[in-house]
Amino acid sequence: MNEDAEAFLRRAIALAAEARRAGDPPFGSLLVGPDGAVLAEERNTSIADDDITAHPELKLARWAARRLDAETAAATTMYTSCQPCPMCTGAIARSGLGRVVFALSGEQLDALKPGAGWPVVPQDGPALYDEASAAVAGYY
Ligand SMILES: [Zn+2]
Repeated sequence: MNEDAEAFLRRAIALAAEARRAGDPPFGSLLVGPDGAVLAEERNTSIADDDITAHPELKLARWAARRLDAETAAATTMYTSCQPCPMCTGAIARSGLGRVVFALSGEQLDALKPGAGWPVVPQDGPALYDEASAAVAGYY
């Protein structure tokens, strides 16, 4: 990892510390555009906002999808204090952002937070294929 990448990761870690000082979970992220300029920064505000989705990575993915053209998004890198969770990973993929660089891995976070990890959500399906597929057919 080069010095610039480490500096951006240190900024993400500083944003995580800011979140913690504010009483929120300790996570921070930023977007760096194709020219190396910081485009946007966020920190976790899930407690302050009473919003389980207020992760910095998700907020930045939304920002990127609204504000960046596809070419710029693809050339933009998200630097984040921790590897994005599955919710944020999905949003990042949909936003078109080209790359994520993280400090702590999800595994390393779990080791710091015993008992954590992603619960398995019971799901049933598929079902009612003819009816459900009719709603989607021809849309794409
Ligand atoms: Zn997340």
